[in-house]
Amino acid sequence: MQLDNLYQEVILDHYKNPQNKVLASDNDAQVHHVNPSCGDEVTLGVKLDGDKIASINWDGVGCSISQASTSIMSDLLIGKSLDEATAISEDFLHLMQSKGSEEGNPDVLEDAVALAGVSKYPARIKCALLGWMAFKDASVQAHSKEEK
Ligand code: ZN
Repeated sequence: MQLDNLYQEVILDHYKNPQNKVLASDNDAQVHHVNPSCGDEVTLGVKLDGDKIASINWDGVGCSISQASTSIMSDLLIGKSLDEATAISEDFLHLMQSKGSEEGNPDVLEDAVALAGVSKYPARIKCALLGWMAFKDASVQAHSKEEK
């Protein structure tokens, strides 16, 4: 897999120095997602403050794409509202489905545009989406819990 050098550095940096990779004990919801095709695993917790994402914390093992993407996602979505996070996640999903035809909007996706090249490799897209799907699952659970 060949990615732009600068982008490769962003991914490696997040892989070596993952952000928010310490599971908290007071999450509103916590999920465990696996990507069997690659062996990636992510346990991810979400804590909400009303409609705002107060914390995304996680732990995981797997390839650099899955771990870096989860780190980038957590960095990007903490502090956002649930609606904003959904819009950003949909943008990222769209980018991953672009088969290499799109570069992604850095104003919206920030470091996540570094993963744009992954969309050319169908086998790796699940790696890049693992953390994002775990977040979606956990945030829906946390939100429904808050409404009760
Ligand atoms: Zn993987």
